[in-house]
Amino acid sequence: MINYISKLEEILGKGRVKANFDLSPYLTLRTQTKVQYYFEAVTRRDLINAKIASLKLQLPLFIIGGGSNLAIIKKKLTGLTVRNKYIAKKIEPIDQNSVKLTVTSGYPVSKLAKELANAGYEGLEYHLGLPGTVGGAIYMNSKWTKPLSYVGDNLISATLLDSRGKLKRVDKNYFSFAYDQSILQKTKEIVLEATFKLKKTKAKKTKEHAAFSLNYRKETQPIGVFCSGCFFRNVDGVSAGKLIDQAGLKGKRIGKFHVSQKHANFIIHDGVGKAEDLKKLIKLIKSQVKTKFGVKLEEEVIII
Ligand SMILES: Cc1cc2nc3c(=O)[nH]c(=O)nc-3n(C[C@H](O)[C@H](O)[C@H](O)COP(=O)(O)OP(=O)(O)OC[C@H]3O[C@@H](n4cnc5c(N)ncnc54)[C@H](O)[C@@H]3O)c2cc1C
Repeated sequence: MINYISKLEEILGKGRVKANFDLSPYLTLRTQTKVQYYFEAVTRRDLINAKIASLKLQLPLFIIGGGSNLAIIKKKLTGLTVRNKYIAKKIEPIDQNSVKLTVTSGYPVSKLAKELANAGYEGLEYHLGLPGTVGGAIYMNSKWTKPLSYVGDNLISATLLDSRGKLKRVDKNYFSFAYDQSILQKTKEIVLEATFKLKKTKAKKTKEHAAFSLNYRKETQPIGVFCSGCFFRNVDGVSAGKLIDQAGLKGKRIGKFHVSQKHANFIIHDGVGKAEDLKKLIKLIKSQVKTKFGVKLEEEVIII
C-alpha cells in the first residue's frame, strides 16, 4: 500500500499527520477504531488544505467534531480523518435588540451556549450540555426539546467547503433543516463558519434557560458514561426511549454494551467492548420494538 504520509505532510505541515491512529479517545461512545491518517485542523486554512489534500491524493475525507453522534463499528477507517479544532468567535451588534454571532465550526457548542447565556444573548442557551461542535450540530440540526429548539433556528448564513474544495456562502434556507436533518447529510460539504442572529435580553433569563436544560439532562440522562446520546430517532413525535423502555429493554446487555436504566434511548459502553456486540444490541432493540409496537426504529446516531 502507498504511504501517503509525506505527500499529506507536504500540504498539511510536517509532523502533523499520524498514521494508523487510535480514534477512540475522540469518540464519546469509545468504540475501538483506528484511522489510516489523522490530522487535527486548528485553522480555516487547515480545513481547506485537508480537503485539497484528499482531492489531490484521492483519499476519502472524514471530518469529526466532538465525535458525539457516531457509532463507528469499523475497525479501521481508510483515508484522511480530520478532527476539527478550529475555534474562534466574533460578536457584532446588529441593532439595539440583537447581535450577529460568527463562530467557527470547531467551536464546542456547550462552551458557546454558556458564554452566550452569561452575556444575555438568546438563541442557543438551551444547548448548554450538548456535546460536540458547531459543525456537527449544524450537520445534525441538533435539538433541545423543552421547549423545542434546533441549532439551525437562528442561523443566518454559513461558509461551506464544497466537494471540489471551493468556498461557498449559503443562507439558512440552503440547509433544508428538519428534525435531525440538514442538506449536509447529502452533500457532505464542510462547515467552516456559521453566522447566527441572537436576541439581546437579560442575562438572568438566558442563564436560567441554560441551567434548566443542564439540570434536566442531569436528572434524566446517564452522566459520565461512554455513549452517543439518544441512539434512535423519535417516531412521529413518539419517544423512541419510551418504546424501548416499554419493550422491557432497560438494562439489556450484550457484552460490554447495555441499554441505560436511566434513559432507555441511551446505549452505554463499558469501554472495551466488541463492535459486534453493539451491532447485536442495536438489532435486538429494533426487532423487539418492531414486534411489540410495529414501529421501525431508525438510528439517530451515525453508524459507520
Ligand atoms: C451525552 C450526550 C448528549 C447528547 N444530547 C443531545 C441533544 O440534546 N440533542 C441532540 O440533538 N443531540 C444530542 N447528542 C448527540 C450529539 O451530541 C449531537 O448530534 C452533536 O451536535 C454532534 O456534534 P459533533 O461535533 O460531536 O459531531 P460528530 O459526532 O463529530 O459528527 C457527526 C456528523 O457531523 C459531521 N460533521 C462534523 N463536523 C462537521 C463540519 N464542520 N462540517 C460538516 N460536517 C461535519 C461528521 O462528519 C459526522 O457525519 C448528545 C450526545 C451525547 C453523547
